[in-house]
Amino acid sequence: MRRISVILLIFVMLMTGITVTQAQEKLYVIATTTIIADVARNVGGDFVTVTALIPPEADAHAFILTPRSAAMLEMADIVLINGANFEESAIADIYGLARGDIVTVSQGVEVLAFGRDNRAIGTLGVDVTCDDEENDVDHADDHSHDVGNCDPHIWLNPHHVMTWTNNIADAFSTADPTHAETYRNNAANYIAELEALDAEVAEILSVVPPEKRLLVTNHNFLAYFADAYDFTILGTVIPSASTLSEPTPQEVAELVAVLEATGVPAIFSERSTSAALAEAIADEADIAVVASLYSGALSAADEPAATYMDYMRYNAHVIADALSPSSS
Ligand SMILES: [Zn+2]
Repeated sequence: MRRISVILLIFVMLMTGITVTQAQEKLYVIATTTIIADVARNVGGDFVTVTALIPPEADAHAFILTPRSAAMLEMADIVLINGANFEESAIADIYGLARGDIVTVSQGVEVLAFGRDNRAIGTLGVDVTCDDEENDVDHADDHSHDVGNCDPHIWLNPHHVMTWTNNIADAFSTADPTHAETYRNNAANYIAELEALDAEVAEILSVVPPEKRLLVTNHNFLAYFADAYDFTILGTVIPSASTLSEPTPQEVAELVAVLEATGVPAIFSERSTSAALAEAIADEADIAVVASLYSGALSAADEPAATYMDYMRYNAHVIADALSPSSS
């Protein structure tokens, strides 16, 4: 009886043109971060399967490949990376293992320099590479190029995520021309949502007056946010674009002096990075640490930053609440 059903099913599939192979012909896409994966799902819709390499709430700066993630990379049709040296610990392995195209989603974004002076230093992939475009093992000892000068936290400005969206639509359309029109339409719809998000974030932040738009962060991940919404980064606890370094005693003393001189009410930290040093500095300056921001990854599905849209709304609310005059 069961055998007859199976034969019947196969017959129906043959007659209607549905085959098992066809069901498996979705593009298999790996995105390094959960944030890129969310954008890719919005562009790909039903025609792609997207998996994030780095788990929710993990620290991408420190992420290294597991045997499972290495196997996923080998299978992927397309690997989407942030670029700008964000995937610093895993990037050489990604280039070594991936068989499909590796696409830098931030290609074409105006990159900011890392540091207290967050000036624009060039367009990624055009006049600045941030040295993540190739496997950097061969010239690891060469410090003459611009490694470390790029701030990789590009997604904190929704307009840059519009660039991601277009780059992802291009990559999907090239790999799967049959569904190119769908990818283009999905991208256009998502970009319209990002425009609305940008206006909504500005509205959430409107309770913070210009003279209060000063940010001190644990690790320096808000420069693109500051650039987009007219904030100034006064200082950071961890003296690098990455989470993988520590300040000198002199840098700590300077930061405490800045906090005391400006009356900034809080240091912003994020869930994926230890706030121990930020806590010690905040104690010394007699201010608070707000440690609930999301930085390099989305939250789990049942928490408040499960999509990029919610991630931006949530962070904007946390910052607005901490810096608005009514809360200090
Ligand atoms: Zn970071």
